[in-house]
Amino acid sequence: MAHTILGLHHVTATVDDAQADLDFCLNLLGMRLVKKTVNFDNHNVYHFYYGTERGAPGTIWTTFPYKGYGVRVGTKGAGQVVTTSFSVPAASMDAWRARLREAGARHIEEIGARFGEDVVRFDDPSGLWFELVGSDRDTRAPWSGHGVGAEAAIRGLHSVTLLVRRSAPTVEFMTSVLGYEEAAISANRTRLTAGGDTPGHVVDVVEDREAIPAINGLGTVHHVAMAIGSNEEQLRLREELVSLGIGVTEVRDRCYFQSIYFREPGGVLFEVATIQPGFTVDEDLASLGRGLKLPPWEEPHRASIEANLVPVEYR
Ligand code: ZN
Repeated sequence: MAHTILGLHHVTATVDDAQADLDFCLNLLGMRLVKKTVNFDNHNVYHFYYGTERGAPGTIWTTFPYKGYGVRVGTKGAGQVVTTSFSVPAASMDAWRARLREAGARHIEEIGARFGEDVVRFDDPSGLWFELVGSDRDTRAPWSGHGVGAEAAIRGLHSVTLLVRRSAPTVEFMTSVLGYEEAAISANRTRLTAGGDTPGHVVDVVEDREAIPAINGLGTVHHVAMAIGSNEEQLRLREELVSLGIGVTEVRDRCYFQSIYFREPGGVLFEVATIQPGFTVDEDLASLGRGLKLPPWEEPHRASIEANLVPVEYR
């Protein structure tokens, strides 16, 4: 039975320097920092969540800045999300090109039209592959509080690109178990959608038989999370994954959502996360991202955690 995936929830990457990450995501891309917390699996490292005003599922980009912890630079390859694409109004693409050039963004490259939409790619400071996709079909409200006006501001995630050696098992799994639909195929790229076909609902599966295996590390995406409507639905999906012999974690409390993690057949780490409770559970909307928020089980260690984190500045 296919389960009800509503679309993308968030994408999480390992990055290098915390301040460079904040400067890039806030000042250049104009996203909102909706939560400053720590990696729940390593409280010495920040976990930054960026998004639109509330950090709605489908708009969230999250990073672990691991500089200084001896993490090697990762390798982009098969079994990984290699590209994260953000949605902007089609008419703003030239303004974005100018903004990226002016800011000295690295490896700006014209992709041209993909499935009828204009695409430009560039690297983030850690070498992550980003794209801006111009779309007139994205009705999500933008965040315009960081110097990019509403006419151009990022609407949220557009899509992710998974690189796999063979796309058929991945496509079969995502359509039969997760409820994705095949929306389009072009050369070695299969476009899948769930919960709608507008930006934020899209996963592209790219096949490359010769691709080297991905290695997790700085400058690579760690996982992509899809949104699911309820804890009950998440448990039903988990049971089905278990019955299919797929290794899946217990439900983990991420404070802002509940999560399960597993690998799809191509090796990409997937998370399925609930919509609730969201980022206003421990901060009000106006002050999202201002304070260091810790999960309740880390609060007793706040003083030592704060002392170990590198200081950062942002407005
Ligand atoms: Zn996640």
